[in-house]
Amino acid sequence: MVKIIKTDAEWRLKLSELAYKVTRKHGTERPFSNDNFPKVNGIFLCVCCKNALFDSNSKFDSGTGWPSFFEPINPNNIEEKSDRSLFMKRTEVLCSKCDAHLGHVFPDGPLPTGLRYCMNGIAMVFEETE
Ligand SMILES: [Zn+2]
Repeated sequence: MVKIIKTDAEWRLKLSELAYKVTRKHGTERPFSNDNFPKVNGIFLCVCCKNALFDSNSKFDSGTGWPSFFEPINPNNIEEKSDRSLFMKRTEVLCSKCDAHLGHVFPDGPLPTGLRYCMNGIAMVFEETE
């Protein structure tokens, strides 16, 4: 996949303040602040580069207040990286196209994968499909 590379200043211009903080500075939005996507069929895209990340069919209500999915739309569209910050061993999820920080993946999700992709809503835009 061809990487999209921009400077910090370019991302800052392109994104809202919170989206910039989350995706480029590894921030986390407050729970229940950005999980208000329409409950219709669609695709969740990276807010930075519009890379397709998740299908609404894999979204589930985890009760955490963050949009949660049990699988990415395509494993090649995301990257997973071990994250040892905050004294916890977690797996960070990044956009494979522009390296945006999206959230984390945890091994306590529902079937069929048993995974919970815990995303920041501000890191994604929703596009309705038929
Ligand atoms: Zn991206």
